Amino acid sequence: MRSWVEISLQQIRANFRAVQALVGDSVEVMPVVKADAYRHGAIAVSHALEAEGARWLAVSNVEEGCVLRQAGTQARIVVMADFLEDEREMLATHHLTPVIHSLQDLHAVHVPYHLKIDTGMNRLGTSAQPDEIARAVKAAPAPLEGLMTHFASSGNYESKQTEQQLERFEAVIEGLRRAGITPRYMHSSATTPIAYRRQEAWGNLVRPGHAIYGYVSPARSAPARVLNVAPALTWKATVLEVKDVEAGALIGYGGIHRAARPLRIAVLAAGYADGIPHRLGNRGQVIVKGKFAPVVGAVSMDLTTIDITGCPDLQAGEAVTLLGADGAASINAQQMAKWAGTISYAVLCGIHARVKRVYID
Ligand SMILES: *Cc1c(COP(=O)(O)O)cnc(C)c1O
Repeated sequence: MRSWVEISLQQIRANFRAVQALVGDSVEVMPVVKADAYRHGAIAVSHALEAEGARWLAVSNVEEGCVLRQAGTQARIVVMADFLEDEREMLATHHLTPVIHSLQDLHAVHVPYHLKIDTGMNRLGTSAQPDEIARAVKAAPAPLEGLMTHFASSGNYESKQTEQQLERFEAVIEGLRRAGITPRYMHSSATTPIAYRRQEAWGNLVRPGHAIYGYVSPARSAPARVLNVAPALTWKATVLEVKDVEAGALIGYGGIHRAARPLRIAVLAAGYADGIPHRLGNRGQVIVKGKFAPVVGAVSMDLTTIDITGCPDLQAGEAVTLLGADGAASINAQQMAKWAGTISYAVLCGIHARVKRVYID
């Protein structure tokens, strides 16, 4: 294989258990498997999570939900990022649970739904007043099953935005209560408020994505992290060719790397079309036989060149590690993101479908 990822379903299950153990029995865990489970493969990941006891899964769109249903997923599936008019029928036939973002849409919904409140992120969700929301929910033909919101700045404990958002969310819950409506589920927490124990935001359902795949982003001025998870994915690429170049040689597109001395380089069978960030040119590192080796020159569409002068016995046909551990060295998506000037989420979601997936249990 030119380039592949190895995914530990056992680690994914362990990460799910760690979240469940942290939030306790009174809070359900709804793993987020959107974007093909952050590229870990939504079908395999969902089956593993269901086997571990997950009764809810969250996806972004109707198509993602249909794929899981067709693969035999029994869990409830919540479609978080809205649906289009022409997807309404698919939503119903595949027993997906919609999130409604506007009170105007309530009259057309005929299955239990979750309602998203925009509490200050100014993305999806209704920003209507609590009493307006209560009136609309009462008049709607289908039952309100869940009330949700999403935080904009939960990773920054110097900001008051999360407290303000929670206050608005509470005001809506209170407005509904006065009207005699208590939704079965209340949820607002993705990975960060779980991992740093912002317990007042947990409600009775949490929506971890990143944590399920083993990541928690650092948070500014945060209390101690209380969630222990580990990455489940290792990414490898095969060496196509090894060669020696002379001092002064220019490597790759644009000749952006000039060899300061004679170098041994290896050409890897993966490039930015596979998801290696283009910004890693002259900046990133990979692991060769337990040692770091720098990327030299530009990352090409299908190829990346590394300097293996420090580990010269690498041969064509052998593999190097792009993400994961090898011996004492390891690189995770946060480290790669830092080199590339992006975020770990984007590194994981950027791993292209042509990179083969291998599941190790
Ligand atoms: C993606 C998403 C999540 C999961 O976020 P993580 O930070 O990956 O845990 C939770 N809720 C909503 C609404 C999302 O879009």
